[in-house]
Amino acid sequence: MPAKNLGIENNNLYIGGEWVDSTGGDSYEVRNPAHRHQVLAEVQSAGIEDAESAIAAAKEAAAGWASTPAPQRADVLYRVHELMRERFEEFARLITLEEGKSLPDARGEVQRSLNIIQYAAGEGRRMFGYTTPSESRDTVAYTLRRPLGVVAVITPWNFPLAIPAWKMAPALICGNAIVFKPASSTPLSAIKLTETFVEAGLPPGVLNLVTGPGRSVGDYMVNHPDIAGISFTGSTEIGAKLYSQAAATLKKVQCEMGGKNAVIVLSDADMEQAIGSVALAAFGSTGQRCTATSRVIVEESALDSFLEGLVERTRGMTVGDGLDSCDVGPVASEGQFEKIMEYIGIGQAEGANLLHGGRALTEPEFSEGLYIEPTIFTEVDPGMRIAQEEIFGPVLTVFSCRDLSDAIEISNDVQFGLSSSIYTSDVRKAFRYIEGVDAGMVHVNAPTLGGEVHLPFGGSKASGVGPREQGTEAVNFFSEVVTAYVDYSGGT
Ligand code: NAP
Repeated sequence: MPAKNLGIENNNLYIGGEWVDSTGGDSYEVRNPAHRHQVLAEVQSAGIEDAESAIAAAKEAAAGWASTPAPQRADVLYRVHELMRERFEEFARLITLEEGKSLPDARGEVQRSLNIIQYAAGEGRRMFGYTTPSESRDTVAYTLRRPLGVVAVITPWNFPLAIPAWKMAPALICGNAIVFKPASSTPLSAIKLTETFVEAGLPPGVLNLVTGPGRSVGDYMVNHPDIAGISFTGSTEIGAKLYSQAAATLKKVQCEMGGKNAVIVLSDADMEQAIGSVALAAFGSTGQRCTATSRVIVEESALDSFLEGLVERTRGMTVGDGLDSCDVGPVASEGQFEKIMEYIGIGQAEGANLLHGGRALTEPEFSEGLYIEPTIFTEVDPGMRIAQEEIFGPVLTVFSCRDLSDAIEISNDVQFGLSSSIYTSDVRKAFRYIEGVDAGMVHVNAPTLGGEVHLPFGGSKASGVGPREQGTEAVNFFSEVVTAYVDYSGGT
């Protein structure tokens, strides 16, 4: 099915500089989560033969791209930036159509993609090594960087543009060739992004796109000896499996995985600010951000007023099609919908108090899509499954705590450690918190969300392994350091 009305020209794989159909001729439908009967496009589904061709094409192109001067590689990225800016609204609309998030959230995602592409292009004139005195006379000792070779980029559905962009741009500026496998449910932003790179002048074979199932195509890439590095974002379950598989062929691996991000609200906090930010971070993007707030830990004396304000704020949030002006869009897929509703049932069965929401919306205006009310559970025990497991939807669990150290203990008592936040007006408590909390990203008086592209992004514990993404850390992942000793003594 042609997809031109979506602002994309292709619905097939991109291998070795050609848009091609899958070898097996398989395809699948991509649907709009706001209107499940609406098929957005029929996309080619790659098989293992296609993954093999893509890896071979990347291998062939890798040396030529690696030897292209980095500032020239940057020129391609600057051109991608320019084209993406011109197509800003097309990209945003496509994200909303295939993923469901509201248009303002989708615009935020496009802006983030632009930021990272611009930042990575700048690395083309940096990518520093260093020189240092040698212990030998007449010897220059220094370091330089070289690309890994062929890298696999495997991405989830919740940021179908920004996550590919924040992996691909640094991978390319460092001189790697890429095989890109986006999430099966959101391949359209990936296709449009690939088209933009092609139009910007990326040589054939340097970027290859295979839309196809992770369990076969992704798995094949993870085990392939010609893939030197893998940048993966997705669930902890798949990331952990992939990490151990990749070790067998000694690949460099970066896995960004699940989260259960907590906000601590102390009684000295600006309550209005804390309430607004928790509501936004818990229910915006339908709670389907890796940095969404899914737990809030409130000092006992402030709990009642916090909850009163939070419920009022949540009631005011509108649910609907992301293309209309709403705060909370549909959840992204049937699988997500069922999982979230199951967890709401588990929370009730575990004895938590359903303070707000909890329903799948079935009124006529919601009947075509996958809508769930923003949901708040109180009286949550830290041992409950809804307190421990990633739900990845508009469901917030609320805990009460005695003081800061009790709050930090509850915050740390999960397997995850991605993002975290505290609301307090006491600077000493803020610094105690930063020291004590187990998370890769820590915020004070700001939501758990997002991050700036020139700073490292990623989590600890079950939320992340391997070097962080973004900032100069991304260059560290996508390049290898070579240490050079040059003896100019002439043997004297
Ligand atoms: P997922 O099911 O783990 O899938 C992620 C990617 O891996 C998809 O492209 C998937 O392909 C592929 N895949 C599946 N099985 C594979 C295998 N055996 N080998 C290789 N690749 C395989 O995750 P998701 O449901 O798309 O995304 C949601 C998760 O991502 C949540 O846990 C969220 O917290 C996490 N996330 C983390 C961050 C972060 O920075 N920490 C950011 C965003 C999202 P298919 O789609 O074809 O199955």
